[in-house]
Amino acid sequence: MKKALSFAIVSLLVLNTNSSHAAVIKNGATCSKVGQIKNISTGKFTCTKAGKKLKWVFKEKLVEIKPIFQPWSIDNQEETLISAALEKYSAWTKANQGKYSNAEFYIDSRVDPTHSKIIEDSSRRAQDAFVSIRNAPYKVFISGEDAWIRTKLAELNMVGPPGTSVCGNSSAPNLYCAGNDHAFFVIRGSNSLLTMQKSDYQTPGHEYFHVVQFSMGGSQTFGLMPSWFAEGSANFVGTAISHELGYFDYRLTRFEEIRKPTTNRSIPLASFQRNDSSVGLNNWLSPYGIGQVASEFIVASVGMDAFLNIIKYTNELNSFEQGFKKATNLELSEFYKLFDAGRINWGIQAVK
Ligand SMILES: [Zn+2]
Repeated sequence: MKKALSFAIVSLLVLNTNSSHAAVIKNGATCSKVGQIKNISTGKFTCTKAGKKLKWVFKEKLVEIKPIFQPWSIDNQEETLISAALEKYSAWTKANQGKYSNAEFYIDSRVDPTHSKIIEDSSRRAQDAFVSIRNAPYKVFISGEDAWIRTKLAELNMVGPPGTSVCGNSSAPNLYCAGNDHAFFVIRGSNSLLTMQKSDYQTPGHEYFHVVQFSMGGSQTFGLMPSWFAEGSANFVGTAISHELGYFDYRLTRFEEIRKPTTNRSIPLASFQRNDSSVGLNNWLSPYGIGQVASEFIVASVGMDAFLNIIKYTNELNSFEQGFKKATNLELSEFYKLFDAGRINWGIQAVK
């Protein structure tokens, strides 16, 4: 006890001695070495030559103020919206993720292994992220040919969709689609990695989110959800996963998606009800890009739990309008009004 006390007194004395000899640093006071810098919380002093004398010159630190996202406000700017939505997404997945144990991958050895690894890694990431909602069997089929997938399905006693193609008819080089417990990745190009768009990297997470939608809402929910929500939410999740895994920054994939003229139209969000590309590019209301931005607006405003509850309550109440209201506390009509008023700030052209 005595020892400790005497030590404290000694160090106090040392401190006193030091400070009594130190020159006072303030704006305009004399300093001794040109270029010397002294930082303080509000800025820094630099020893500067002024005529024949050396003087401290103070420069105030500029504080960068990051705008804070305001829920449901149409005045938020694009970057503020994106970062708020991503922050909410990653906070939710950090709190809810776990180890998914039900994955089965069927991979045609002719597919570029780098490509199939991207699909496998992203699918696993999505499975882990949503394991608190779904940890049931999920089969992923990756091949260059529909026939290979059909053979595998037959071996597993699974019934494939009607028609030749397992993912419907499209001229796209690669086709992706999901069911309630499986997804198909048809990689047609022989140099598939070369033809991939940034959006191809978000499809494994995207397809798995459709499976999550199935498990939360049942197949009837797909008939109730407008396509901007069904596809936009899947795009949001898939793009966030591609971002987390370091394939592409979220903003780059998003930008590629929302600049497409089929989705970036001067048409109200509420019109993007049905995803039907067979009507031709001029008439197709592609729900992906615009729906992704609308999903960001929802996630950033009310968080991931409410966002997911839209699916759950749509099923329970047998109505998207009522499910949306119950999950978010906002009337769907009011949401449409806000989104269409704010969208010009978020990269989607205004309604004409
Ligand atoms: Zn989809």
